[in-house]
Amino acid sequence: MELRKLNLRNFRNYEEISLAFDPGVNLIVGQNAQGKTNLLEAVAYLGSGKSFRAQKQSELLRFGADFADIEGEIFSQERNQTLRWVLFGGSRPRQLWRNGAKKKTTADITGVMSTVLFCPEDLMVLKAGSSARRKLGDQALCQLRPNYDAALAEYNRILEQKSRILKDYSENPALLEILPEYNTRLCQVGALLISYRARFYDSLGLEAAKFHNQFSGGKEEFRLQYRTVSTVSDPFAKTVQLEEDLRAHLESHYRAELESRQCLTGPHKDDFEVSLSGIDLKAYGSQGQTRTAAISLKLAQRELYRREFGEEPVLLLDDVLSELDPARQDFVLNHISSGQVFITCCEPGRFTQLGKTIEIEKGQVI
Ligand code: ATP
Ligand code: MG
Repeated sequence: MELRKLNLRNFRNYEEISLAFDPGVNLIVGQNAQGKTNLLEAVAYLGSGKSFRAQKQSELLRFGADFADIEGEIFSQERNQTLRWVLFGGSRPRQLWRNGAKKKTTADITGVMSTVLFCPEDLMVLKAGSSARRKLGDQALCQLRPNYDAALAEYNRILEQKSRILKDYSENPALLEILPEYNTRLCQVGALLISYRARFYDSLGLEAAKFHNQFSGGKEEFRLQYRTVSTVSDPFAKTVQLEEDLRAHLESHYRAELESRQCLTGPHKDDFEVSLSGIDLKAYGSQGQTRTAAISLKLAQRELYRREFGEEPVLLLDDVLSELDPARQDFVLNHISSGQVFITCCEPGRFTQLGKTIEIEKGQVI
């Protein structure tokens, strides 16, 4: 997968820009706050329809603009393709075209250009709170499995409605009558999420172990363990079984949810753990081990995409390379010598030997 050209209008701090890229490494250089991460965000959005940092779609529109336009020429699936998104402020739905034909959902563009983002926060993700790991896992899995993406969106919708019921039922007791319906749907869709996650984390862990073991010279045995609702004894079980397990947990927490007015049960609290030779990384890992394990996870994600789509995804390294010591830099660079990479960096002159340099200032190329 290769992004050959990108045209932006009114995206973040870019009023209008047209860029051509190298099939290998593209180094995006510029001072702070000039638009380097915004550019990576546009690339990621183009391929996935998702921003890795915006809370709301309207944030992507340039201040004062009423639309944003992201258009790219991509070489993938052995041919030239185009993707285009037009986003609007307010509630007007966004529009998507693939090769000039209007499309409805991100499932219609799966595999055209997938991206793997690696940013400095990811380096410490294994020490962070569980929500950072869920976000990392969900972002990776959504691009890989559009049905998971749809299920996750539905789960979050139901969860939000259930939260509202739990918050408001004392003023409006009739709400409790519809609660069982929401609980049933949560168990059904939740079971689906667990099923996808179990398989995904299993493959991710196996791939990451290979990278980690290589880097540690075989001294550390990397193991990733998916953690979900405690009543689920086998996350690989059939979804009807998972549904039953979720229901058992839910029933035992029914009172507690009403009293605390919070959704206490379900896979929205899922997590994963990494251990090195049996020692829990979150509690005991050194900074170096934590970083190496995080790099391994990202390289593993890239490898899973490569296997699924039959080509290298586009790799986005946001400020991460300059954060690493020389040994880890080399390790990353040696493993990404094929495929297209975007690297952002603040220091001019650094990494320039790697590929094409694009210098950005105030949303313009200089
Ligand atoms: P750093 O090196 O600090 O990471 P960067 O080059 O990655 O900097 P970006 O995050 O890409 O910087 O760009 C940040 C700039 O873009 C900020 O100055 C911010 O105000 C501006 N910006 C963000 N969103 C919008 C928007 N919707 N409209 C206009 N400008 C925006
Ligand atoms: Mg940045």
